[in-house]
Amino acid sequence: SNAPDLPGLLSRLNGRMREDDHWGDVAAYIPQLAHVDPHQFGIAVVTADGTCHVAGDSEVPFSVQSITKVFTLAIALGRSGDQLWQRVGREPSGRAFNSIVQLEQEQGRPRNPFINAGAIVTTDEVLGHRPPREALAEIVQFVRAAAGTDDIHINDAVAASETAFGHRNFALAHFLASFDNLKNAPELTLGTYFHHCALEMSVRQLAMAGRFLVDAPGLPRLVSAGRIRRLNALMLTCGHYDGSGDFAYRVGLPGKSGVGGGILAIVPGQASIAVWSPGLNRYGNSHKGTEALAILARQMGWSIF
Ligand code: GLN
Repeated sequence: SNAPDLPGLLSRLNGRMREDDHWGDVAAYIPQLAHVDPHQFGIAVVTADGTCHVAGDSEVPFSVQSITKVFTLAIALGRSGDQLWQRVGREPSGRAFNSIVQLEQEQGRPRNPFINAGAIVTTDEVLGHRPPREALAEIVQFVRAAAGTDDIHINDAVAASETAFGHRNFALAHFLASFDNLKNAPELTLGTYFHHCALEMSVRQLAMAGRFLVDAPGLPRLVSAGRIRRLNALMLTCGHYDGSGDFAYRVGLPGKSGVGGGILAIVPGQASIAVWSPGLNRYGNSHKGTEALAILARQMGWSIF
């Protein structure tokens, strides 16, 4: 048949990624992440028939960081529906993920749910008026159900490390509170935020967890088809911060990055892809992860355009 040989492609892609010795720099502002060896690469692809193909460091758990913002957004929309959009926008920011400047210009309503300020708001919405451990249990449960495994955990040392050095996120949270856009004390919302960012998954687990965003008959459905489309639209326009346009141009798929070096990318109706390499580009997105996705999408003919 003419179907590309996916296992062969992934294996050659893994080899090609390891040949090039430019790995990018790991995130240093979270001390626990600064210790990660940058010379790692893993990729996993789950296709519409449910098969998972992997290559490279596919079973190593890494800090998924901002990729959890997709899951918390799905939960926040499930709890609050379109009311959520009164508190957070749906426009790309064109700014770094931790930027504060637009928050003042736009009266405390973050541009989108994937920059830090916006994700602090969606986390606050998920928290509601519950103790943080209840909200965290719901988030972890959602991710485990999506991935189809209970072997997914929060790394408390990473969460503590981020709390100790999270001055920028504390500034964002207090700024939100000053505009009356937090329901909870900043420390409570941030504690919940830091802990869900500290979830760890392997690319195999992450690609499995991304199945709910594919919308294929054979894959698990956790949210409605309309909501899947909208989550994907936000991933395409905002999932890579000020690198979102570049990612759409080079890869052509909705994706969400994390500062731990992971990227979840979706081929609507066809596949969930997770890639991980800890070294980052200048936007704070995985350098080799982006390269690998661009090559794989081209070779497979995958694009939403
Ligand atoms: N927890 C990280 C932070 O708040 C998430 C950032 C990211 O992954 N881009 O800075």
